[in-house]
Amino acid sequence: MSANILLNDTIVALATAQGLSAIAVIRLSGEDAIAITQKVFKGKNLLEQPSHTVHFGLLHDGAKTIDEVLVTIFKAPNSFTKENSTEISCHGSPVIVKEIIKVLLKNGARLAEPGEFTKRAFLHGRFDLAQAEAVADLINAETDNARQAALNQMRGGFSKEISILREELIHFASLIELELDFGEEDVEFAKRDDLKKLIKRIQAYLLPLIQSFDEGNVIKNGVPTVIAGKPNAGKSTLLNTLLNEEKAIVSDIPGTTRDVIEDEMVLGGINFRFIDTAGLRETQDVIEAIGVERTRDRMKKASLIIYLFDLTQTTLAEIINEEEHLASLGIPYIKVGNKVDKADASLVEELKKHDFIFISASHKTNIVELKDKILASFQVKTVKAGDVLVTNLRHYQNLLQTNDALDRVLESMYNGVTGDFLAMDIRQSLHYLGEITGTITTDDLLDNIFSKFCIGK
Ligand code: GDP
Repeated sequence: MSANILLNDTIVALATAQGLSAIAVIRLSGEDAIAITQKVFKGKNLLEQPSHTVHFGLLHDGAKTIDEVLVTIFKAPNSFTKENSTEISCHGSPVIVKEIIKVLLKNGARLAEPGEFTKRAFLHGRFDLAQAEAVADLINAETDNARQAALNQMRGGFSKEISILREELIHFASLIELELDFGEEDVEFAKRDDLKKLIKRIQAYLLPLIQSFDEGNVIKNGVPTVIAGKPNAGKSTLLNTLLNEEKAIVSDIPGTTRDVIEDEMVLGGINFRFIDTAGLRETQDVIEAIGVERTRDRMKKASLIIYLFDLTQTTLAEIINEEEHLASLGIPYIKVGNKVDKADASLVEELKKHDFIFISASHKTNIVELKDKILASFQVKTVKAGDVLVTNLRHYQNLLQTNDALDRVLESMYNGVTGDFLAMDIRQSLHYLGEITGTITTDDLLDNIFSKFCIGK
């Protein structure tokens, strides 16, 4: 959809959650937002009211009164979208919401697409793309750390600095291109030493951002954690104990936990997404085999494996053997000896030399110690106001690409390549930098980003 068509009409959507609530807010944005609202509103003439005022009245569809409402008016450009906007606060019944949206559609509004309010705000220059994406992250934040990281980014984050550095680089690109216009003449408008210094300065800014992604990603997306081990080792029991909820199936029949059940636990501001898995044994059962296959897949994708050894069923030799396989995966893991309540004391004594943690999943023994160990494997600092962290994979990839492109510019300079090649390398860096903030975008990129928003945002 092109930006022009998009911005010509007035959109409407429910801005609050679906379902019963005390109050629901319906939001309109577009040139005719206030005029359309006025058509269905009985009260003061909204068109004559100043921006940022609230008005009580009746919402009606022809002769039928739908509800008593409050209408807040925002006049362009002083609204979230920078367009004329209204927010209708009505009683929070899905029937009322439906009727109001219906009558607004009848009077010239159209239903908003997911993220369209934020997309309009971006297209009108309220904020750049990285900040628009932070709006979605803020809404989706599941921990306080994730909320703070998103808020920091929404309030500016690295956007401003990147724009400034990009402007400086554009300056050099134009000077070099000017040199090209002089063809054969031996002129050098762009001082190569200054260009080198600028590139080093940009890279010095980008590098800590790139490095912050490991932590930023953990903060935003949590840590995918697999609880693995042989059937009956106590994986489901441990998951239940950790979550304190009876969500996974627990039974004595090996292989009952056939599917992958995902759950979450916030420890120290980090969201650990626990993935309970089917046991890793050879099986003839087709459904169970699929489960085992998935477990292997999940283990490869996990950032942390909690591996349970059944202390009542396993010899020291077997445990060492299993651990070798575990270590070969190259993913951080915690070795847990379960059923310590029934374990042979000498085995426990022996395993103490191998950095095991001993628990009883069913008796809830040493669970706090296990949680500490889980947390210790992923320490993140508490995010404070103003901390700049990269939490978005798209930004991270663009930063890496920019950095590589800048490396190529430096390399070209050291190799003394001609201005036209140098200019190409710089243009490439500018392209990637511009994509982060949305100075350079395509409809596909925008659709991809905003379609992930909820409707009404
Ligand atoms: P999974 O196949 O690895 O998911 O194992 P389950 O969680 O289904 O547990 C298998 C059996 O071991 C169940 O009967 C559990 O009650 C039992 N179990 C789990 N943890 C412990 C424990 O710490 N001590 C004892 N004695 N039994 C346990």
